[in-house]
Amino acid sequence: MINRNINFTNICEQHCSFCAFRRDAGDADAYWLDRDTIITKAADAVARRATEICMQGGLNPEAKLNGSSLDYYRAIVVELKQAFPQLHLHAFSPQEVEFIAREDGLSFAAVVEALAEAGVDSLPGTAAEVLDDEVRRVICPEKLNAATWIEVVETALRLGVPTTSTMLCGHIETPEQQIRHFDRVRSLQQRAIERDYPARISEFILLPFIGEQAPAPLRKRVGRDQPVLADTLRLTAVARLFFGSAIVNHQPSWVKLGLDGAIDALRWGCNDIGGTLMEEHITSMAGAKGGTCQSPADLVAAIGSIDRPARQRTTLYGSLTAQPQS
Ligand code: SF4
Repeated sequence: MINRNINFTNICEQHCSFCAFRRDAGDADAYWLDRDTIITKAADAVARRATEICMQGGLNPEAKLNGSSLDYYRAIVVELKQAFPQLHLHAFSPQEVEFIAREDGLSFAAVVEALAEAGVDSLPGTAAEVLDDEVRRVICPEKLNAATWIEVVETALRLGVPTTSTMLCGHIETPEQQIRHFDRVRSLQQRAIERDYPARISEFILLPFIGEQAPAPLRKRVGRDQPVLADTLRLTAVARLFFGSAIVNHQPSWVKLGLDGAIDALRWGCNDIGGTLMEEHITSMAGAKGGTCQSPADLVAAIGSIDRPARQRTTLYGSLTAQPQS
């Protein structure tokens, strides 16, 4: 998939213990992109044949328009969609939905509906970390809890907004907690199917913890800076088997594993290599070694190196007839 990541601010009110991205307002390297910059980045992505903008950011309480957090987020979406109606907007995690709802005193459904009406096409299923509150109390105590993540995603699916799903693995979680996470995500998808919600979870992405630049306490507790590839690959295979026909698309993170590691993951249950990204900040600031951009040609060549056919796709796994050129 040809896509561009836009992380519109690193100013965040929370302090997740794995996060090297967040800054306080006023820090020397805090940033907050204005709407013109966001549009310029999207225009560059369109010129490079992107079909998707993936947009997420820190939780910035100052990010308001007319005193409303929702109005601020909605204004970015409307402007992007007016300029580039053809782009799929994959934007705002369940944590961002919860943040907007909390700031403005709205229900999750009201926020999801308003964002979808403005032009959000799907939500990234990030902020799931591990769907186990014992783990969350250590790695992300201020984040929405497991039940709330599930509630926000279920609300989106019920309202016809597809999501992805993720897990942050390879830190303090036990195998039992990993399986509980898989079970909660699979049960959620099964409910969406049984209740005939108009949208589904489109894919599962395993995100191994990068410790290199992470805050010291968790880094020290985990005791390593980069993921153990063999562990990640084994868990990739377990996830593929566990999700079965409930979630059939599985994606590794080349940012975290490197492109070679991501290609290995194609032999362990993944069927997708992810997007070109064009820029990435959250994981690279944590010290990931995989880079922040891949050309379509490099992704196609890497897939071909293990004799797998490459096919360019849309965000929701539709086909695109044109093959990536460069
Ligand atoms: S992971 Fe997200 S919510 Fe947590 S501190 Fe970092 S930017 Fe904020």
